[in-house]
Amino acid sequence: MNIAILGGGVAGISSAIALKQKGFDVTVYERNPSESNIGAGIVIWPNASYVLEQLGLLEEIKKVSGYPSAMQRLSNTGEELGSINIEEINNNMGYPSLSILRSVFQTILISKLKSLGITIKYSHEITKIEEKKKTVNIHFKNGEKTTANIIIGADGRMSSIARKFVTGNNKPIYQGFINWVGVYESKEKVFDDIVVKDYWGTGERFGIVPISQYKAYWAGGVAAKKIGIRKPALYKKELNTLFSHWAGLVNEVITNTPQNKINKIYVHDHNPTEVWHKKNLIIIGDSAHAPLPTSGQGACQALEDAWHLSNCLAENSKDLDYAFSKFTQLRLDKTTGIINAGRGLASSLFNSDQEFCKIRNENSKKIDYVQVAKAMAKGWSSGLPINA
Ligand SMILES: Cc1cc2nc3c(=O)[nH]c(=O)nc-3n(C[C@H](O)[C@H](O)[C@H](O)COP(=O)(O)OP(=O)(O)OC[C@H]3O[C@@H](n4cnc5c(N)ncnc54)[C@H](O)[C@@H]3O)c2cc1C
Repeated sequence: MNIAILGGGVAGISSAIALKQKGFDVTVYERNPSESNIGAGIVIWPNASYVLEQLGLLEEIKKVSGYPSAMQRLSNTGEELGSINIEEINNNMGYPSLSILRSVFQTILISKLKSLGITIKYSHEITKIEEKKKTVNIHFKNGEKTTANIIIGADGRMSSIARKFVTGNNKPIYQGFINWVGVYESKEKVFDDIVVKDYWGTGERFGIVPISQYKAYWAGGVAAKKIGIRKPALYKKELNTLFSHWAGLVNEVITNTPQNKINKIYVHDHNPTEVWHKKNLIIIGDSAHAPLPTSGQGACQALEDAWHLSNCLAENSKDLDYAFSKFTQLRLDKTTGIINAGRGLASSLFNSDQEFCKIRNENSKKIDYVQVAKAMAKGWSSGLPINA
């Protein structure tokens, strides 16, 4: 069985590794000329750590990650609004939560890919998926064409050709907020603890995720009705106007993050779809179920897809339709729940009504965070053989 994977992001690379480990012959096609990634960093929650252990990558990743112990919610003036104990989530699930830079994570995935002898063909931008009787042909911008027994569409959220082929629609939905993301590094010890700080304003939010005492990635967000311009030379000015008066280390990380380590993203997601496959092609990762970054689970769910899909295909390789349907059935409810959770939190965080935000912050102080940690562990464990 040979498999063509369209897209070399988290979903594409991790699936390639998982499928190769199950004995499939895999090739990855990526439009970029070399390794690249969006975003600054991710938290690998315990559900994703489980998958990384199955792929034989967890130990290596642990060596270059931070171990966040808590996620503190604060007002923009620094008032404590509550704290989620991440160690409790880890204990409930039996795996660690890890903070890591996207670039470091992607490099580890790619080097595993190479060590398994999997080819990744860069500068292969898919332009068309041509439907044949039972299969599809893939056409690339460079004039090449390919086909395979199984095609996996992992071409992301913004312009997925695979999603369009399967569902007829690949238009992501702008969810009314901007994220500036960046990577901050200092020669001095800046972070006393590896604690995530999530500052909430009115229609604004700033999150800092330390990876070590010297290094963190961060995201500043603001509600914005319309999609506007992206000019890297203005990013710092925009951030300073919004956040320079905020509490804690917000000003420090903005001021001391080099401009070329900042990106600005008008944040989109997709409505859940129940249809994930057509002919011999299945979509996974953001192409199938792109959640907002407020879910914290996009990359983690891409990793879960890799593990589930490799199992479904290995167990049912003679009946592709059955394998694809089983995979969709295993993944649909969980990923739909995560899309909805991301939207729910975003609609609260990026609400620009002062009274709403005042009440939201007061309510946040009254939440039972032990129950929150338990519920998060339970939800994220679903579909995986881990107890929570
Ligand atoms: C601002 C922001 C912050 C985020 N923060 C987090 C976080 O903290 N934690 C978390 O878990 N998730 C986070 N996410 C979500 C996470 O980035 C995605 O869910 C995850 O990367 C999905 O992986 P993917 O492989 O499906 O898509 P992608 O990583 O987007 O990969 C898709 C790949 O396909 C390639 N491609 C696209 N079109 C074509 C084509 N036509 N031909 C060939 N190749 C193509 C792209 O170049 C890319 O390499 C964040 C997302 C955003 C937008």
